[in-house]
Amino acid sequence: MTNTVYAIYGASGCGRSLMPVAREQLQREGLKAEIYFIDDSLEQPKEINGHTALNYAAFKVLEAQNKFVQIAIANSHIRQKLAQQLEQDGIQLWQVKASNVVIMDQVEIGAGAALSPFVTLTSNIKIGKCFHANLYSYVEHDCIIGDFVTFAPGVKCNGNIIIEDHAYIGTGAVIKQGTPDKPLIIGQGSVIGMGAVVTKSVPAGITVVGNPARPLRKEG
Ligand code: UDP
Repeated sequence: MTNTVYAIYGASGCGRSLMPVAREQLQREGLKAEIYFIDDSLEQPKEINGHTALNYAAFKVLEAQNKFVQIAIANSHIRQKLAQQLEQDGIQLWQVKASNVVIMDQVEIGAGAALSPFVTLTSNIKIGKCFHANLYSYVEHDCIIGDFVTFAPGVKCNGNIIIEDHAYIGTGAVIKQGTPDKPLIIGQGSVIGMGAVVTKSVPAGITVVGNPARPLRKEG
């Protein structure tokens, strides 16, 4: 029986961008193991970017003592659903972290994070499950980030900010720093549009865009 196998769940944009990061991580750790893609759109296994890609049912029956999976899918609700499935099946969430990620002091990161190249996490930060920090994003000091939060590339999350579960922060968004007694809060499930400049707290479940960021009004 092979000891350990690894997989990137999702073979679309997010997964194909994280696979090279995952491959380099295993090399760095001196581990020689196969990394699969899992994608449920596949009826039959096929090769994608030099890796075997198969659906979850086929991955589940692979013979291995240990299985580690990075859920590389941007939709946070799908990540949550798949994380629950993996946990039920006794498969571990796998953190994938690029070699040049900078992590400073007292940073706590939940299982299954994806930390892409050039991400920086400074000091005294707490992050929940399955966090995605895409290319060049940073999190400054004293932030608390919930579960299944997603940062597109280039997110600037300054100090003393709380980001609740399932929030999505678009490419290049800038979030103004809070203070220790009054952190800036991005509410649960809210969406920050690309390039938004967020100057004050955002309630749960809404989308804000622009500079300064304001709720998106739907036409009609
Ligand atoms: N997917 C899957 N199982 C699921 C839900 C999604 O394998 O339960 C796969 C889906 O087939 C697709 C990928 O996850 O290949 C999600 O890709 P998408 O282009 O929507 O977004 P990305 O997260 O890569 O930006």
